[in-house]
Amino acid sequence: MSTYVHDFLDGNRDAADLLGGKGANLAEMTRLGLPVPPGFTITTDACRVYLKTGAAPVELMREVEDHLRGVEARMDRRLGDPGHPLLLSVRSGGRFSMPGMMDTVLDIGLNDRTVEGLATISGDARFAWDSYRRLIQMFGHTVFDIPGAAFDEVFTAAGAEDLDADALRGVVAAYKEIFHRHTGREFPQAPHEQVHLAVLAVFRSWNSERARVYRRQEHIPDDLGTAVNVMAMVFGNRGPDSGTGVAFTRDPATGRRGAYGDYLPNAQGEDVVAGVRNTVPLEALKDLQPACYEQLAANMDALEEHYRDLCDIEFTIERGRLWMLQTRVGKRTPEAAFVIAAQLCDEGLIDLDEALRRVSGAQLAHLMFPAFDPAATPEPLATGVAASPGAAVGAIVFDSAAAAAATEPVILVRRETNPDDLPGMIAAVGVLTGRGGKTSHAAVVARGMGRPCVCGAEDLDIDPDAGTLTAHGTVLHTGDVISIDGTTGEIYPGRVPVRPSALMRHLGEATGESDDPVIAAVDRLLAHADRVARLGVHANADTPEDAALARRLRATGVGLCRTEHMFLGERRPLIERLILAGDDDAEREAALAALLPLQRADFAGILAAMDGLPVTIRLLDPPLHEFLPALDELSARVARAEALGTDPGRDALLLAAVRRLHEQNPMLGLRGVRLGLVVPGLYAMQVEAIARAAAACRRAGGDPRPEIMVPLVGDVRELAAVRREAEAVIARVEGAPAILLGTMIEVPRAALLAGEIAEQARFFSFGTNDLTQMGWGFSRDDVEGAFFGRYLELGVFTTSPFETIDERGIGRLIRIAVDEGRRSRPDLVVGVCGEHGGDPASVRFFHDAGLDHVSCSPYRVPIARLEAGRAVV
Ligand code: ADP
Ligand code: MG
Ligand code: MG
Repeated sequence: MSTYVHDFLDGNRDAADLLGGKGANLAEMTRLGLPVPPGFTITTDACRVYLKTGAAPVELMREVEDHLRGVEARMDRRLGDPGHPLLLSVRSGGRFSMPGMMDTVLDIGLNDRTVEGLATISGDARFAWDSYRRLIQMFGHTVFDIPGAAFDEVFTAAGAEDLDADALRGVVAAYKEIFHRHTGREFPQAPHEQVHLAVLAVFRSWNSERARVYRRQEHIPDDLGTAVNVMAMVFGNRGPDSGTGVAFTRDPATGRRGAYGDYLPNAQGEDVVAGVRNTVPLEALKDLQPACYEQLAANMDALEEHYRDLCDIEFTIERGRLWMLQTRVGKRTPEAAFVIAAQLCDEGLIDLDEALRRVSGAQLAHLMFPAFDPAATPEPLATGVAASPGAAVGAIVFDSAAAAAATEPVILVRRETNPDDLPGMIAAVGVLTGRGGKTSHAAVVARGMGRPCVCGAEDLDIDPDAGTLTAHGTVLHTGDVISIDGTTGEIYPGRVPVRPSALMRHLGEATGESDDPVIAAVDRLLAHADRVARLGVHANADTPEDAALARRLRATGVGLCRTEHMFLGERRPLIERLILAGDDDAEREAALAALLPLQRADFAGILAAMDGLPVTIRLLDPPLHEFLPALDELSARVARAEALGTDPGRDALLLAAVRRLHEQNPMLGLRGVRLGLVVPGLYAMQVEAIARAAAACRRAGGDPRPEIMVPLVGDVRELAAVRREAEAVIARVEGAPAILLGTMIEVPRAALLAGEIAEQARFFSFGTNDLTQMGWGFSRDDVEGAFFGRYLELGVFTTSPFETIDERGIGRLIRIAVDEGRRSRPDLVVGVCGEHGGDPASVRFFHDAGLDHVSCSPYRVPIARLEAGRAVV
């Protein structure tokens, strides 16, 4: 009984943890009776022992020898026997496919004697010597790190593809010398030693640089280790009735039905990847080798039927005989993922629940953004972080005011952005920054708006004063057109043709049924998601237009309507007046009275757009000084006036206010509910505006459902005070509907005391951005450039906690708050607003935590709907 080695005859596809994906599927194909060359798999356990101790388990090589005897018997060949030499491949293969990341050695078992034997029994000396030179090169490269180029030079100098047996003999002699020169030893002649060394080399390749980089990017854990598959070689390079190929059971690009792939006559598998010669389409095999084609097609049907999914395979034909060398459930484009899931339903292979499991919110996101035409993209100028998906083309502008004033489409290019850039970001078709990552201001805001964004393009030298952008010697100026791809992070010079997302148009305009197979499949799966989902999906919307769009995208309410944007632009003077009023009651009341009708109109529009559905309006949240001009700008203006001997007037007052309101740490300063309790009349004005807007909607025959949300509450008494005032105000407004009052839970203390707070709140909404900032004790705008890179490297987190909710820490606060809140008020409605509401992985967590709804930007609504459904099935 073996511990570390399993014959293909013993395994199956469920054992992928132990046998790796490749090994488990080779066993599965063997079990299905498909023609797989005999072989066995060394488990990931053995690899883990090697990685931990630096040596293979002692019993491993004995077990390998035992299993080799079995392979020899089945093949009727023997390793190292010149009369009947058995050749082997030693192939890597971990739990998750890491294409091309690790090593494989073919033709093991050849040496100076068996090569002659192979020549004799095959009757083809050219083939035998060609295999031997392949072995020395692959083995030298994989096991001893000899650069491939050293061999390639010799091979090319000798004439490469057209060599005859004698010339290849010469190449082999030269290769052996290269081997000796680089390693100080002879090429190992003992086949068992070759096997042994190759197995250890495959173990080691787990920790190669490229494998590590790939794993980090794909979030594959570093401690899984790889399995090793040892199997009898079959030869596609034995003449015109031999060959090798790769095939898919459906087109992985479009999902279209029917076999699809490439075939290379008279070649070994690695030649296809190396692109040595041009392949022919799989169809051509029908004429070249009809019987093999038939058999291959039947095998592919059997695999699809069995795996109930698109499979990709590697196969080899040796002198008219077909061999299956690998299969797995194939990777596919997002388009194909939806189409195939729907097709498999139609074919009765899977049900709709399963179909929903087969697609993801991330794939849907990809389909909802415009994309560049892949046939028409030039070399990129530089590559940055893919921060907000989509493609954008526009003229370069370096400042926000210019972007806002532009009449043509523009790309806002900044070293980094801050809240002052908001108007420019709204006006621009895309945003490009030189600094910051996926959670930088630019990235977060752009994602919220559905605006394509590339950030952290460090190869760009951005000089706003000179009006230039320089990349690798190319200098671009204000007004020059560039194209940015927020899905890949690439930046192109000039105008790259864009294909708008047909799906987005379809969903956003709520048109009827579509005969585009991708759109039809998405519609069908979204409809199923809506049917099964328990978690509702609301949208964050601050304007009637956004609210209407969200509704067409099937949001069932507004989960967060921010009011701060309503105080920007031409209304700034009014809020400045409020701030300058200070203790002057009459002046303050006058300022508030001027704001009231404007606010009422804002709310009326949104309530009308969401008629019949809840609209959660958050009372003013940011610190007041955010509405004032920047300190340096004001100081300069005042100093200039004084130098000229003119009266700085209002500027002097504003400057004094800015100084008075200055905070060391505004994130933790006078904001949220604290403002409401400190600035008399502010919240009352907003509440009155909401109540009046709702009353007006009702008079017009509507069904407004406003809810009032208080930000930044940490203690129930804060909420109670606001509530008393709000209820009194609402009671005075004639015709106002019942208006629910609730709170955000974003201060950790509120999460811990949620039971008390729920006595005063009809609903909770988790503000996960602030909860994450305050829970971790770092500010989103400051930390990212400073240390997130290092933290990701160290594995402190695998994704930014601002992108995907930190389930263990912040998630725990959420669970506590849900439990305690519902315990004191069983009908408490609990939602989440903030970036995480549209993040696929986080949506699943919110479902599990028992929330009633998530709220996200309108563009993310379909993604959240899909994930809400997926969380159930
Ligand atoms: P990768 O994971 O990079 O595809 P593989 O282990 O699948 O690496 O092998 C590399 C190439 O060698 C593939 O084309 C494969 O089909 C071919 N190959 C592997 N084992 C054998 C074998 N026993 N006989 C013939 N070709 C093989
Ligand atoms: Mg392969
Ligand atoms: Mg907040």
